This record gives sequence, C-alpha cells and structure tokens, in this order.
Amino acid sequence: MDTKTNSPSNFIRNIIDEDLASGKHKAIVTRFPPEPNGYLHIGHAKSICLNFGIARDYGGTCHLRFDDTNPEKEEIEYIESIQEDVRWLGFDWGEHLYFASDYFEQLYNLAVELIKQGKAYVCELSADQIRQYRGTLTEPGKDSPYRNRSVEENLDLFERMRRGEFEEGSHVLRAKIDMSAANIVMRDPTLYRIRKVSHHRTGDAWCIYPMYDFTHCLSDAIESITHSICTLEFENNRALYEWILEQVYPQPHPRQIEFARLNLSYTMMSKRKLLELVNEGIVKGWDDPRMPTLSGLRRRGYTPAAIRDFADRIGVSKANSMVDYSFLEHCLREDLNQSSPRTMAVLRPLKVVIENYPEGQVEQLEAVNNPQDPKAGTRLIPFAREIYIEQEDFMMDPPKKFFRLAPGREVRLRFAYFITCTDVIYDAEGNIVEIRATYDPETKGGSAPDGRKVKSTLHWVAAEQSLQAEIRLYDHLFTTEDPSEGDLEDILNPNSLEVLEGARVELNLQDVQPGDRFQFERIGYFCVDPDSSPTHLVFNRTVSLRDTWSKLQQK
Ligand code: ATP
Ligand code: MG
Repeated sequence: MDTKTNSPSNFIRNIIDEDLASGKHKAIVTRFPPEPNGYLHIGHAKSICLNFGIARDYGGTCHLRFDDTNPEKEEIEYIESIQEDVRWLGFDWGEHLYFASDYFEQLYNLAVELIKQGKAYVCELSADQIRQYRGTLTEPGKDSPYRNRSVEENLDLFERMRRGEFEEGSHVLRAKIDMSAANIVMRDPTLYRIRKVSHHRTGDAWCIYPMYDFTHCLSDAIESITHSICTLEFENNRALYEWILEQVYPQPHPRQIEFARLNLSYTMMSKRKLLELVNEGIVKGWDDPRMPTLSGLRRRGYTPAAIRDFADRIGVSKANSMVDYSFLEHCLREDLNQSSPRTMAVLRPLKVVIENYPEGQVEQLEAVNNPQDPKAGTRLIPFAREIYIEQEDFMMDPPKKFFRLAPGREVRLRFAYFITCTDVIYDAEGNIVEIRATYDPETKGGSAPDGRKVKSTLHWVAAEQSLQAEIRLYDHLFTTEDPSEGDLEDILNPNSLEVLEGARVELNLQDVQPGDRFQFERIGYFCVDPDSSPTHLVFNRTVSLRDTWSKLQQK
C-alpha cells in the first residue's frame, strides 16, 4: 500500500527536526500505544497516522505497543482487531510488536528499586480515604499515616502483596512525592494495586498490576522511544512521567509531547461509550457502518487513503477543537471519485414501459466505467422495453426548477436514448405505478441528430435485465454536534438506518465481493456489505454525492 508521500510539517515534526539537528537523536522511535479495551476509532487513526507517519518520513521506527494493564476490561478480540485496523490503514510495525505486560517483571523490579530509594511506600488507606487525603485544586493534601514506613517494611509488604496475602483494595503501592504539590497528579500517586483476576496474557502469574502512569513511561523508556506523543489530557501526567524516569531509569529518556485529540462533530469517540452502544444493541456491533470505529468505517466503504489524507489535512495542534464531519466526507469523496467504477442503480424503482420499443428486444449499450480514469474502460448494459427509473425523477405537476421526467416531457436516459412520457398508470389508491413513454431511436448514445436538447439525464436499469438488491442508507447516529454531552436516549437519531429492500442494480454487479466500491451514478458511493451474497446483494451507502463541506468553502 502506498503511504509514501510525506505528511505536512507540524510543531511535533519541528521538535524532531531540532533534535536531529542538535545531534540529540540519530534515529527516531515513536509508538502507538492502545489499551486493548475496545476497537480503534477515527480518533486513534489521527494518532496512528501521526506516529507511523513520523517514523516513515524520518526513516525511523514506530512500535505497536499494547498498554495492557487493566485485565478486567481487556480482551484478545480487541488485540486482534487493533492489529487488523492498523494494517488496514496502511502501516506496518514490522517486528516491533510489544505488550506492556511483557515488562511486568521488570516493572516490579523498578518499583522495588523505588522502595529501596525511600521513594515509594505501601499504603493501607482505602480508596475513599486516599481520595479524601488527596486534597483539592485549592487545598493541599494530607500525608498518609503509612507514609513513613521503613524501607524494610515496605519491601516486605510489597512482596506479600505480590504473593497474594492481602485482599483487593486493602493495600496499594504509592510513590512518595509531595502531598502539597500544586499538580495533584504528584500527590503520592498509586503505582500498584491488587487485582485478583487473570490477565489475557500473563494468566494468573500476577495479582498486583501496575498503574497506567507507572507502566506507560517505563514501557516507553524500555523501548527507547525518543518522542512519546500523546493527547493533551496527559499534560499534567508529564511531571510524574519524568519523575519516575528520573528516579529509576538511565538517560536518555523519551520526551513526552502532547497534541490536541481529534473531536468530530456528531461523533462519539470514547471507547467506553462506544462499548455501551454495542452492548445495548443500539448498533449491530463494533463494525456497524454507523460506528466511528475503523472497522465500522471500513464496512461503510471508507478507504484507508481517505482517512490518511484526512489525518494529514486536519493537522496537529495544541488547541482542542471540533472538526466538521463533512470534512471527513469531503476527503473520502475526493478519493472515491478517482477510484470508484461507476454503475447504475435505482433505489426506489418506478417502471417505465417504452411503448414503441420492440417487445422481446434487448440491446447492449456501451457505458463509461470511470470518467476520471480512462484506463477503466467501458462496459455493456442491457436496454429493453421495460426499465426502471427513480421514483423521485418523475413528477405529475413539476414545479419550475424540476427538469426531470413529467407528462409530455422528454429526457435523456444515460448512455441510452431520449424518452418522452406519454401516460401515467395509477393503482386503486391513486399511487403512480407505471409510466408509459416513447423513445426516439435516432438518439442512441444520448444525443439527437437534429441537435435538440433535453434538460435532464436520468439513470435507469432494464427491468428484467437487472438485479434486486438491498440498500442500506445511513445517517449520523446522533442528532447533536457534540454527543459527548446529554443522555443517549435524547440524542440518538431514530433514522440513522434506512433499509431499501427493492432496489435494482445493473446486471454487471452479479459477482461483486464484500468491500467492492462503486459510484451509483447521480446517487452516491456504495460498498458491498459482508452480508451480501450472489442471491441477496447488499450495499451500504458510503457517502452521498453532495459535498456540503466544499460548498461551504466556496461561499
Ligand atoms: P478512548 O477514550 O477513546 O478510549 P484512549 O485514549 O483511552 O481513548 P487508548 O487506547 O489509550 O485510548 O489510545 C491509544 C492512543 O490513541 C493514545 O496515544 C491516545 O492518546 C490516542 N487517541 C485516543 N483518542 C484519540 C483522539 N480522539 N484523537 C487523537 N488521538 C487519540
Ligand atoms: Mg485510555
């Protein structure tokens, strides 16, 4: 996969340039460090493109490391999906696949080292008490009564924690820093807790697990990461990160750099909340095409190139902001416009009988596969006496700006002929069920020898010589721009999925495979769903043709 083009510069790349120029580093090592507690989402893609993109452009290395310190919430399924998604985005960690859990023994020894230096202690306050003792933004905390235990006692207690002698919650290991530090993170943070649960990788080897802050900085150091790039909410944790490394790890230390996380309008980004959508059956799974997960976007028809392009173009900054969802769709359309073969599909069919076309005759008409790509060539599509057009392309009493089919009016059928509507057939309830028309045999290919013009071109398929398909149309899952606020019930969009069972698509789509993408002429981009089979075709609408973002830019 081609991800070779260099990404635009940003303040992180400027720091790296300086570090290379000054000789501080010769080779750049970054990492993408997910916690395997859910599927990756579009926010993670920003971080992946940033970290792997830097490694690619600087000839460095990017590690994939699982920060797997929370055994209760983590699963093998997530580890596998994360690897699949990073690869799908077009990145490769080579041999550099790591797990923080592989460092558990080393981390334990570093904790022992901290104790020996008198910089960590075993505390028996309850979680609630620890919270009370911590103080607030305006008030200093209070020292734990266990803070001044001797090194020997701490070593003994910590070892017994490891051996499983104590109940969960009864003991923790804490760093001994400063209970009156202005930065609350530095008020004797917990480094280890007791959890009597098996870990998906280490099994029952451990009943104490290191906290994220302790694990993360040391894992970076162990892997010789040069630039440890993370999101802004870890800014306060940087002091602790540096403090831990300062005490127990030899130089050089990784440099933590924070950037603003991606927020997208109408999109929920927290794995915890996405899990809730899955568990409550609000969506069909992590890969539901309405989900902002990479697996959901993939199923919806997004391309990795479009997502990489989006990540490059939104850039990297220090200020939190909200990116408009229509910009992601804009990047997607740019890519799909280049790469998607065109085809015709009628989502809500209305039959048209062409009365002067010979009964039983079928002819093959030539159609262009992709006007953006001459190499894509042409295909043949059958034309016959009975065809389908889109219901919305016909009106009995058209208003002024409606140029499509209406009684007495002539329009062009794409790649075919001019037709004129001669009659309209209703059912008993007064619904239009069929249109009668005539065609002009002289207009084959879509132009009239006498030079007369029509104002509209419609897509169509032959009635018999086409295939039935199920089409799934999607809209935002939420009705509010910022779904991180408000109760789920209040903000869910009840119309986020509409299923059309009776659509008709070109005969040429008989052998499509899940993941195949098309532009349905005049409608939008569509992708074959994994539920699809030759006897029951299923397409997802990836994105409509209308580009609201680029319209906004032109105003
Ligand atoms: P979530 O809250 O969605 O679970 P997280 O930060 O807890 O996200 P991690 O698995 O810890 O999830 O994330 C792995 C990496 O992805 C981290 O370095 C994190 O900073 C980055 N990341 C997560 N969400 C975003 C986002 N919205 N924009 C940019 N980077 C993100
Ligand atoms: Mg996290």
